[in-house]
Amino acid sequence: YLQSMPKSETIRLREKHVGAACQLFFRSSPLKIVRGVAQYMYDETGERYLDCINNVAHVGHCHPHVVEAGRNQMSLISTNNRYLHDELVILAERLVKTLPEPLSVCFFVNSGSEANDLALRLARIHTKNKDVITLDHAYHGHLTSMIDVSPYKLNLPGGPEKPEWVHVAPVPDIYRGKYVYPDDSQDEEELGKLYADEVGKICKESKRKNGGVCAFIAESLQSCGGQIIPPDGYLKRVFQHVREADGVCIADEVQVGFGRVGTHMWAFETQDVVPDIVTMGKPMGNGHPVAAVITTPEIAKSFADTGVEYFNTYGGNPVSCAIANAVLDVIEEERLMERANRVGNHLINRCQQLKHKHSLIGDVRGRGLFVGVELVTDRETRTPATAEAKHIVNRMREEKILISRDGPDSNVLKFKPPMVFSTQDADRLVDTLDRVLEELDGNQAPVTSIKLQVLVTPIDETKTESAALNTTVKQSIKSS
Ligand code: PMP
Repeated sequence: YLQSMPKSETIRLREKHVGAACQLFFRSSPLKIVRGVAQYMYDETGERYLDCINNVAHVGHCHPHVVEAGRNQMSLISTNNRYLHDELVILAERLVKTLPEPLSVCFFVNSGSEANDLALRLARIHTKNKDVITLDHAYHGHLTSMIDVSPYKLNLPGGPEKPEWVHVAPVPDIYRGKYVYPDDSQDEEELGKLYADEVGKICKESKRKNGGVCAFIAESLQSCGGQIIPPDGYLKRVFQHVREADGVCIADEVQVGFGRVGTHMWAFETQDVVPDIVTMGKPMGNGHPVAAVITTPEIAKSFADTGVEYFNTYGGNPVSCAIANAVLDVIEEERLMERANRVGNHLINRCQQLKHKHSLIGDVRGRGLFVGVELVTDRETRTPATAEAKHIVNRMREEKILISRDGPDSNVLKFKPPMVFSTQDADRLVDTLDRVLEELDGNQAPVTSIKLQVLVTPIDETKTESAALNTTVKQSIKSS
């Protein structure tokens, strides 16, 4: 039935019955994806696409071991976590083993938003403070509580206003953020200190005015903000400031966790810190909704001491736990972390080489299979090449390669493929990008015409754009 429905009918029914706020990729010509295998997705005609953006399908689309685990458990029992079940405690123990002490108490939920919402609740109860510090351009989820701490969605035309208890610190973007040095030779740690002290200023103010901070929440590497890699020492100093103001530190690992950075299981480890609360989701179920909050016994005790039961109907159900355990099996057995390191380094090196060839590439950054290529029209002024980025994403789709773009100016090409991505896939991605960039280098006219077209037609699969629009407006429609 599903296979036989023409694409035009799928589009018609979707337009009729699905909220228009739920936006499609490639809105003017959406993809109908019917099947996935490893790093590939197939449309209804059998056309195969190389998936360079789906960090949810972490161990590869429809991995047989994960599918089998879900199918088996589904045929046995799926119920709530008020009953004892081995899959749940095994999962808790396995996750805790990947984390540094004292992170050892788990709560299972169903999505990244729910995980961050619970993290904030824990922080509030534990500290009894209200002020929350978040980073500019951050996204932490779609729940009302999370939109409040997600500048990515705040202050948009018609959108919610930032609450007074939310404080926004500058994102530690050393290429186009508040503190940048004119070349790459400067001391990163010095920049890390400058950015961290911005959080410090907020902490001191909060302590003075409101008695202390509730939480600092941040992705360990900011993805929605444009694949930002914080400078060395940044989180360490931030955590010191936050703890001096009696706050707790929440690491949102929803996008970047589970070995994506290659060198470590969790991205916060690259900054040599131990958060008080870690949230995880997306890759955890390889497409099945399962997420978790892991915290310290002390914080979990404050929560339990309220006497209020925490019950979550689906959180920690045996099917979700069996699937998450199977995902961990595959990460270990297929040594996907090492692979992310090896393939990621290859991809980053090849993108760096491309930078020498194409002036449109201003910056290449990444860790493992979390990579960003920032496009600029002028390397001196670092002016964002937004229209060009849009053109490239669409051209790559024509070449059957799916990439996306992000950042406040939508000019950062994002690569975060399933971890089974190979060096051959990386070569194909970079070779094709090289060709598409050559088309742009060799012919300035189409770029100008693309710009004009974009300026008068602010319709995109993910964004509204115009160089004339201010940053907040530009944040409007994002593919969080
Ligand atoms: N945190 C981050 C960093 C995210 O990227 C997302 C989703 N894009 C979320 C939280 C929310 O996760 P979910 O969509 O599963 O609720």
